[in-house]
Amino acid sequence: MDKSKFHLVTYNWLFLLFVFLFLHFWQHISVWYIVGLVTAWLLMLAAGSLFFRWNFYLDAIHHGSRRVKQVALTFDDGPSVQTEALLKILKQENVPAAFFLKGENSTMYRKIVRKAFDENHLLGNHSFSHNVKFTFQNRKSVREDLLKTSHLIEKITGKQPLFFRPPFGVTNPEIAKAANDLNLTVVGWSLRSFDTRYNNAGRLLKRLQQKTRSGDIVLLHDYPEVTLKILPQYIEWLKQNDFQIVSLEQLINKKAYA
Ligand SMILES: [Zn+2]
Repeated sequence: MDKSKFHLVTYNWLFLLFVFLFLHFWQHISVWYIVGLVTAWLLMLAAGSLFFRWNFYLDAIHHGSRRVKQVALTFDDGPSVQTEALLKILKQENVPAAFFLKGENSTMYRKIVRKAFDENHLLGNHSFSHNVKFTFQNRKSVREDLLKTSHLIEKITGKQPLFFRPPFGVTNPEIAKAANDLNLTVVGWSLRSFDTRYNNAGRLLKRLQQKTRSGDIVLLHDYPEVTLKILPQYIEWLKQNDFQIVSLEQLINKKAYA
């Protein structure tokens, strides 16, 4: 595995700590320099966890080529009672999408998962329970959670998913190691719709229209009503503005299944 930014930062930090300790004991610089250095390192680790796009702990893919007018639509946190309605729109518009599924939900909506797969949408792993606990688990527990979800998807579709999107976009060394153990391609996003926060359809649509760029991986969610509401208009707008909606596999040039 290539050394991540986390490793590089930590090695440099250890070197600085060594220098500061030396200066403290031999030149009697204030202990507060060391306290400041430790604080800065801890803040850096926390920020690296929260700012997914820094790729601090792992190398995730956040967009495709910026030179080709293509985008991929992704829906997180499904399946849900609404997935079927989303599938209907995607079918009418004849566009592919990727669904990052929660394992727990997938056990309840097996038929919908199968339907999405049969209609040529990609299925990715978005963890089993998608709770805060996931982000504090050790490598083994993260691996077990991810395997549980991948096995379930494989049982329903016959295909083992390789795309993984971490819940909340939070990463850490344990998640990085587990994803690497399982050879998963970690997929982020470059355009966040905020469809779980905005319930005003006009505002959401406007935001998407203003922000969409070539190569974008668009993050939408499976369950908000507002997402269902704006989806046909957003797709129409993309088509009218010559954006080709392609599968995530095509956009990032990676295999979605083992
Ligand atoms: Zn999620």
